[in-house]
Amino acid sequence: MKLNLNDTFNKALPADSVTENYVRQVPNACFSRVTPKIPGKPSLVHYSPQMLKAVGLTETDANSEEFLKVFSGAEIYPATEPFAMCYGGHQFGHWAGQLGDGRAINLFEVNHNNQQWALQLKGAGKTPYSRGADGLAVLRSSIREYLCSEAMFHLGVPTTRALSLVLTGDAVLRDMFYNGNAEYEKGAIVCRVAPSFVRFGNFQILTVRQDLENLKKLADYTIGNFYPHLGEPNKESYIEFFREITERTLDLMIHWERVGFVHGVMNTDNMSILGLTIDYGPYGWLENYDPNWTPNTTDAGQRRYRYGNQASIGLWNLLQLGNAFYPLIEDAAPLEEILDKYQTSYLPKHIRMMSDKLGLKNAGETDFIAELENLLYQSEMDMTLFFRRLDQFDENNPNEFWTKLEESSYSATLEKFKPQWTDFLKNYAEILVAETSEKTKRTAAMNLVNPKYVLRNYMAQLAIDAADEGDYSVVDELFKLLLKPYDEQPESEKWFAKRPDWAKEKAGCSMLSCSS
Ligand code: AMP
Ligand code: MG
Repeated sequence: MKLNLNDTFNKALPADSVTENYVRQVPNACFSRVTPKIPGKPSLVHYSPQMLKAVGLTETDANSEEFLKVFSGAEIYPATEPFAMCYGGHQFGHWAGQLGDGRAINLFEVNHNNQQWALQLKGAGKTPYSRGADGLAVLRSSIREYLCSEAMFHLGVPTTRALSLVLTGDAVLRDMFYNGNAEYEKGAIVCRVAPSFVRFGNFQILTVRQDLENLKKLADYTIGNFYPHLGEPNKESYIEFFREITERTLDLMIHWERVGFVHGVMNTDNMSILGLTIDYGPYGWLENYDPNWTPNTTDAGQRRYRYGNQASIGLWNLLQLGNAFYPLIEDAAPLEEILDKYQTSYLPKHIRMMSDKLGLKNAGETDFIAELENLLYQSEMDMTLFFRRLDQFDENNPNEFWTKLEESSYSATLEKFKPQWTDFLKNYAEILVAETSEKTKRTAAMNLVNPKYVLRNYMAQLAIDAADEGDYSVVDELFKLLLKPYDEQPESEKWFAKRPDWAKEKAGCSMLSCSS
């Protein structure tokens, strides 16, 4: 296994001077050197052929003993120095102090085909940032991260990636619903991959500690490596840095809205400085279109991270990042101007995205779209099915679409909404006719933004249940299905269906906790 190593983070930034691995505050540093825990009896569950190639490895490598050893933490790749990052964060709206990589260990960075990749193991044991926890991950949550992060990439949503999924052979104790019923589960490790894993919280912790020297180092490192077009570090480029992170974050929020993804834990330590979806925990996918829905049981009361609130939280998180950047810029006005722009751009971007889903050329139909969102909610319409089936809407026979609505709704009283839907479909047809919309062209474009297949919560759970019994065929089936989420794939039509009744209230399918 030959990797083109190119470490940058642990070369450019200051390391913790303490080298023992015990839980502590780590001032004046950006990371601590740690080594992964030696797994009991590691075995490979799955790898991503796409990611393998991207980091410069081959199928032969993936099947080698060395691959299993390196990506299960059993062995350290020669000439590398694994480490855990120091970061802080606001959790559920409150400053939580130092958090850090409590169960992620960065192995090394590589450069392949001029693309930089950082590789890290999630669930490879304790670090100085593990606080009271064990640093481990279980098979259930590892499958969820592994499948979803690759699926998101193929949906066209910015995201961290996954290279491999291994079992450690060790048992991990978890109280899945924090109700005193702890059980042993299979330990697992995902090797996650991204150009960088730097989060908003990496900057926040330095500013809170008034470590301005390292704040500047981290900003200069991030700009130099990941925003090089911004040029030399100075006040102007720091402002542009903030502007670009803000734009990327807003775009990410719009993507999540488009595909019906709910992150579930949008704490500032889970916000990527590159605008990537990061830290797949108790995330979920909208089935019945309910903007108030959150999959995260920990957030069930407040619903801070509900689907319909994600864009607002994105802005709130950026405000915290702005505070963290303030000492570099010492002028609040440009930061406020950038945040204001986020606010004013949100609605037009949201309407443009919804217009694309509807195949509308013009994005002026704000009221029409608001009415649709309300109807989708009231009539408990499956979001993915509804939008995908719109490719069968015939503007010359709008009422024919009613049967598609019936097939896509979870409501027992859909009939009640028939008059409103009839109006809506009539309006929709009139708009399409007025736009001289050509059906073939329109639907081809719509099917590039309305996925046919997403990783519904119950689908991931089916893969988990089988994998728990040692059967990885569903993991593999879903992995392959989600490589082409916009393709028809008629042989997989069974996954283009409403959530089955058994999944409505089942743990893992509609409710998830942070316990992973
Ligand atoms: P999360 O909300 O899952 O992103 O986690 C918040 C913080 O808790 C991060 O600093 C994680 O590294 C840490 N953490 C979560 N689970 C564990 C665990 N099992 N062991 C150690 N640290 C953890
Ligand atoms: Mg996290």
